This record gives sequence, C-alpha cells and structure tokens, in this order.
Amino acid sequence: MEPITISRIFLGFLLAKVLVQSYLELRQVKTLESNRDKVPADFADTIALADHQKAIDYSLDKLKTARFFRTFDLIILLLWTLGGGLELLHRQIAFLGLSTNLAGIAFFAGLALISGILGLPETLYSTFVLEEKYGFNKTTKKTFITDMLKGILLSAIIGFPLLYVVLMIMDKLNDLWWLYTFVTIVLFQLLMIFIYPTFIAPIFNKFSPLEDESLKERINNLLAKCDFKSNGLFIMDASKRTGHGNAYFTGFGKNKRIVFFDTLLKTLDPEEVEAILAHELGHYKRFHIYKMIFVSWLTLFLGLYILAVLMKLPAFYMGHGVMTQTNYLTLALFSMVSGVYTFFSTPISTHFSRKHEYEADQFASLVSKKEKLISSLLKLYKDNASSTVQDQLYSNFYHSHPHARDRIKALRAL
Ligand SMILES: [Zn+2]
Repeated sequence: MEPITISRIFLGFLLAKVLVQSYLELRQVKTLESNRDKVPADFADTIALADHQKAIDYSLDKLKTARFFRTFDLIILLLWTLGGGLELLHRQIAFLGLSTNLAGIAFFAGLALISGILGLPETLYSTFVLEEKYGFNKTTKKTFITDMLKGILLSAIIGFPLLYVVLMIMDKLNDLWWLYTFVTIVLFQLLMIFIYPTFIAPIFNKFSPLEDESLKERINNLLAKCDFKSNGLFIMDASKRTGHGNAYFTGFGKNKRIVFFDTLLKTLDPEEVEAILAHELGHYKRFHIYKMIFVSWLTLFLGLYILAVLMKLPAFYMGHGVMTQTNYLTLALFSMVSGVYTFFSTPISTHFSRKHEYEADQFASLVSKKEKLISSLLKLYKDNASSTVQDQLYSNFYHSHPHARDRIKALRAL
C-alpha cells in the first residue's frame, strides 16, 4: 500500500470520529436543554428543580469545555503526525548523539514534556474554572503544583526504566519482541498492583484506618457474609481535591484494601455506605475485575502484535507523517494514532461495563437493603450534580454506568 493511501485512511477515520462525536454531542445538548425546566417524572419526588437545573448546567458546561479542548487536541495530533512534529522532535534528539535506547528515553521525555505543557490549559480550566464554578473544586494551587511535580517524578522513576527495558527488548529480540514486551508489561502491572496501595497512593493522599466502630462492625459483618477478606478499611482524604464521592478496592489476594472517600462518608448514612460497598463487592464477586484485567491484557497482546506487523511496513509510518524508521518513533506514533482507529469500539466496552453495573446492583440487593442502594444513588446523583436526563444514543455510546432511571427501575423490579 502507498503511504498516501494510509494518510487518506487515517484522515477518513479522523473525520468519521469527529462527525460521530459531534452528532452524539448535538443530541445530548438538545436533550439536556429541552428538559431543563422540568424534573423527569421518575425523580419528581426526590430531586428538587434547582438541583436538577444545576446538574443540567454542569453537564452542558462540561460538554462545551470538552468540545473546545477536543478540537485543540485534534489539531495537536495532526501537527505531531502528518504535520511532521514527531519527525522534527526525532531529528532534534538525533543531534544529541546518544545511543539508540537512550535517544528513545530522551525522545519520550521530550514528548511527555511538550504534551504535558499543551495539556495544562485543559487541566487548569476544568479544575479551577469548571469544577470551581459548581463548588466541587477543593484543590489549592499548592496541592495542584505538588501533585504535578510528584506525578512527573514518579513517571520518571517508574516509567523510564520500564520504557528502557521495552526498547531494549525491541532492539535485541527481533521478531518475537512483541511477545516478550507483553510479558514484561504484564509482570510490571502485577508488581504495580501490589505496590500501588501501600507505596504510591499514600504519596498523593492520606489513608487513615476507619475508626467509627459501629460502621466498622456493620462493614465487617457484610464482608463476612460475602466471604471477602480484606487487609483493612481506610478513609482517604479525597476532600483535599474534590467534592465528588466514591468507594473502591485496591490490591489483590490478601493485600486487598477497602477505601472510602471521606466525601462519601459525609453524605451517606451507615446503611447506605453498606449498600454502596455491597455494590463494589458485587464487582468483585461476579468476577468483573478479573474479566476487565483479562480484556485489557488481551487488548495489549493484540495491540503489540499489530504493532509488530505494522513496524515492517514503511507505508504505515510514512503514511502517518514519520519518515525515519526507529523503534521509539514507531512506538510513539502507534500510541498516538491507535485511539483514532479504536474509537469505534467504545460502545462495546461501555456496553459490558453497564451490564456489570446491573449485575453488581443485583448482588448488592441480595446482601444489603436495596432501598438503601437506591437512596444512596439518588444522593450521589444530587451531590455529584449528575444529570438524570440523558440522550439514549449518547449514553449507549459513552456511559460506563446505566442511566439512573434504568438502574433504579431494575433495582425496584428485583
Ligand atoms: Zn459499579
């Protein structure tokens, strides 16, 4: 295939992606706007008009912001690829006269630095303007800057050695490099699962053991009922950054920790906390977590194999604006453009994610009070200013969680 054909295919996919995104967004905006003056019948008793309107405005503002920065990102992507940006950066690095693998590290460091700077306006805007406007932002400028520095330091300490190993494998192991890289990344991820809760997460947040004895007893009863062994219940100081609430698990095997955002405990009563935790346990007990990990490994395996095939085709990198063939350039190019091609698989993954949510709700209704799960969902919707109005098609495409109305309906029907 000629490079020009690849360029045309790339632009075609890009255009299709933009059209699909814009069409879905248009539908969503219309649905939100036309429902602004009235709370949907299903929620008329539970959600006040003012809260409903705040949720609609928040959703609309988020959409507008996303649209603006998406256009910006699209231009950046075109500049990096067909515009010759990757090639240009590679030439600058070549002047340094480093060994191939060190040049690779320098290249990715440069790429990360430039992308980081270009991404800063969006992070700043959504944290300090958008989230601020709706009262969710609790991040101070100091926290923001220290978070950023810690993040950079961590990615350098953890990311660069991994990248160096991958580049070495690509360099030395000829045709089977992709298989060895796959194994390396999987082992690395397993290591991260073990060290993340105890070593990395505490760099960013404070985790204190749950001390409320009656809540602890309630939760331990639930864990015993579900035959779930955990290595401690913790409260995380999420309120340091955001007003949004959540609960989650980290770790594996005996190293599992249950973490509650302090923001969640502030909003929900003990029975509701129990119901939310029961839902999270449902994800675990119904093997969703293992399924997701399996799917992500399968995707990685296929992705690396496809990359190994494409690397041998000059038309692939030339068609995307890269003229020189080096391992690190192709790696960077592939990670940059693959999202354009995989965008159309989004509804498949969100479909399974929504299915899992129903299953986890169903599990929660077996081991805790489903009325409490419903009331906690309503409270979280209100507190997070999530809109109870959604365009069906938009929601089917993007949303990892089912529509509140459908979730509550399904719970009531159980
Ligand atoms: Zn869930």
